[in-house]
Amino acid sequence: RSALDDLKNAIRTIPDYPAPGIQFRDITTLLGDARAFRRAVDELVQPFAGLKIAKIAGIEARGFILGGAVAHQLSAGFVPVRKKGKLPHETVGMPYSLEYGDDEIEVHRDAVSRGERVLLVDDLVATGGTAEAAVKLLSSLGAEVVAACFIIDLPDLGGADRVRRLGVPVRTLVSFA
Ligand code: IMP
Repeated sequence: RSALDDLKNAIRTIPDYPAPGIQFRDITTLLGDARAFRRAVDELVQPFAGLKIAKIAGIEARGFILGGAVAHQLSAGFVPVRKKGKLPHETVGMPYSLEYGDDEIEVHRDAVSRGERVLLVDDLVATGGTAEAAVKLLSSLGAEVVAACFIIDLPDLGGADRVRRLGVPVRTLVSFA
């Protein structure tokens, strides 16, 4: 599909960032392109219109930018999923492991309620560790994570399938193998 090729072409690749051998997929170029940004948000929400999504959960930090636009489009609320220690009110956290060491994400305890239908949004799924932690965190509060969507999939790392194995459908728009 040429529309998705246009999106892929709007993403910049930075070699050896943040470490040698890593190809960083940089969406700031897509965000700065009015047509590409609109197209990306339209494509992300397309399967979810009419599915009564109550809230978008966006993962810090690029998931905030996309998630805010997606929330507006679906007339849903927005919930920030943040790195540990950033949220001011009572939080619940979920640790997850990275290549080197561990990290933890948090949401406000009252950010979602039992049975609420939530759509998870981030820019990119790599190993799926972050998204898996977010699904588990939101589920632990009783939310129903209806799906997870990302602009970019790195299929060699298997993250989209890892999230699907949790029973959460995954939508991605472009992939870099
Ligand atoms: P995962 O937990 O391994 O799936 O990593 C996904 C998280 O790391 C997401 O929040 C991404 O924003 C971030 N991330 C990993 N690789 C890249 C990249 O190449 N470009 C932008 N973000 C990345």
